[in-house]
Amino acid sequence: AKQMGKGTYRCFDPAMMEVATQRAAMERALKEAVACKRFEVHYQPLVDCRSRAVLGCEALIRWQHPDGHWIAPLDFIPLAEELGLINQVGEQVLQLACSALAQWHREGHAHLGMSVNLSAVQLRNPLLPEQIADILHMNGLPGTALTLEITESVAMQDPQTSIHRLEQIRALGVRLAMDDFGTGYSSLAYLQRLPLNILKLDRSFVQEMETNPNDAAICTASIGLAHHLGLIVVAEGVETEAQHAFLDSLGCDVCQGYLFSRPLPGDALRQWLGGLPG
Ligand code: C2E
Ligand code: CA
Ligand code: CA
Ligand code: CA
Repeated sequence: AKQMGKGTYRCFDPAMMEVATQRAAMERALKEAVACKRFEVHYQPLVDCRSRAVLGCEALIRWQHPDGHWIAPLDFIPLAEELGLINQVGEQVLQLACSALAQWHREGHAHLGMSVNLSAVQLRNPLLPEQIADILHMNGLPGTALTLEITESVAMQDPQTSIHRLEQIRALGVRLAMDDFGTGYSSLAYLQRLPLNILKLDRSFVQEMETNPNDAAICTASIGLAHHLGLIVVAEGVETEAQHAFLDSLGCDVCQGYLFSRPLPGDALRQWLGGLPG
């Protein structure tokens, strides 16, 4: 047995061995997926809260493991970050999302925008703004067609550099959204320092807003705060008509959730948009 620390011993354990082997296999599969560009992207509509008109989509990465089952993003994105693969993964998602959007624009949906999630690690890459500019240019898209979603943790480690990077991205016309708002630990003062355009209210508050007065209060206060700061509010995880009606009554601007559509493959999304051939 190996001594791990004060009073704790870890003996050889076949289950632990299994975990290590599985992780190594997962690493190999992930590296292969990056090298061979095996990721897919699904798209979930964002709709105007009042009129339900479609404003755009959020791009959500999908990965089918070589053994056939689909792996949830939260089960491989952290590993991609750890392995130093996230910049490549992020670039592939951005390229797929922008080429899909460019196609929809050509097919008559020129008003639609695209939101893409950005990992905190990607923001440390000094080449990121140039990479974004190149992908927009290659696909003939204006910066204003793209929104990048960041989480509160993004800029916590190195605020100076993060804010600088975000400002470079903003200079391309790209909009910035604070994702999962309310779940992190950022102060209001800090939020104000970031060059944001949009605040996305986390779905945990939306889902309990009708039954939990605290969550309703958080939604009300967050929408008020966001509007005071000149930000657009997007509510995520809207699943019921009652949630939608409540959010509309609070002045929420944009909604996203299963009530309108689940995330769909590109071709299914095109059909959902209006009778285009798959
Ligand atoms: P997120 O950015 O908060 O994305 C929203 C998640 O909520 C998605 O899960 C979406 O499928 C799910 N969702 C949408 N509407 C509803 C609803 O009405 N009810 C419920 N219960 N869920 C809903 P998904 O696709 O599993 O993604 C999970 C997370 O993985 C994302 O959370 C995001 O943080 C991360 N992620 C996804 N794609 C990417 C990517 O390309 N890059 C990076 N860095 N992260 C990504
Ligand atoms: Ca997001
Ligand atoms: Ca979110
Ligand atoms: Ca989330």
